[in-house]
Amino acid sequence: MSRKKIVAGNWKMNQDLQSGERLVEEILNQEFTLDASTEVVIAPPSILISTVTNVLQSKAQFFTAAQNCHQEESGAYTGEISAAMVKSLGCKYVILGHSERRMYQDETDHLLAQKVNTALNNNLQVIFCCGEALDIREAGTQNNYVNIQIEKGLFHLSPEQFSNIVIAYEPIWAIGTGKTATPEQAQEMHANIRAHIANQYNETIANNTSILYGGSCNASNAASLFSQQDIDGGLIGGASLKAGDFAAIINAI
Ligand code: PEP
Repeated sequence: MSRKKIVAGNWKMNQDLQSGERLVEEILNQEFTLDASTEVVIAPPSILISTVTNVLQSKAQFFTAAQNCHQEESGAYTGEISAAMVKSLGCKYVILGHSERRMYQDETDHLLAQKVNTALNNNLQVIFCCGEALDIREAGTQNNYVNIQIEKGLFHLSPEQFSNIVIAYEPIWAIGTGKTATPEQAQEMHANIRAHIANQYNETIANNTSILYGGSCNASNAASLFSQQDIDGGLIGGASLKAGDFAAIINAI
């Protein structure tokens, strides 16, 4: 088994040039105990990618991600950013399918499948988000719901393409709410996702796919979440905006 462990910070629409530069420098000034299979990823707003990438360049195992890219290669799409632009700024990853974009920008499974293709064609690795809302969890149909998101967004990929996918399971009821999935709830979903990938591709591909947990993960609960056998790290929102907390989460891996 050779899957990476990843802690990724999603800054969302927070930080300006000055505070963003300060934050990434503060993060780099923390003490880290990283093993060779761990990566740290920071996803700043797209306008700050260049600045953050330049600061991170000196630090092995630290990379940047974009929070989104467009499905078309280029063209008359005012205000959008393309996968090629993201790549040219030095990003290794792009986050696609975050629930906030599914919700506020009406991003559909079909659109996300197109974005995944365009990102991979531009040699970006994709952190693909999935996760159920509270009513679906309460109805007990979360496994099926998440499996369908993954099928529609990703299962058209060849095995080679799929090796560039990281999955982030983010239950919507846990994002920014302070209500974290228990380690057991998260582990159960991660095992379900891995089994679904094995069923579509094979056991080796499933065992090599990193599956991150996201949703109110913080310095206090990260270690118990990351100790679960199918949780390979986290996608961190609020807690990634505080250097000390983000470092504690990274060290919990
Ligand atoms: C996120 O938005 O990806 C996220 C996990 O946010 P938070 O950690 O703030 O719940």
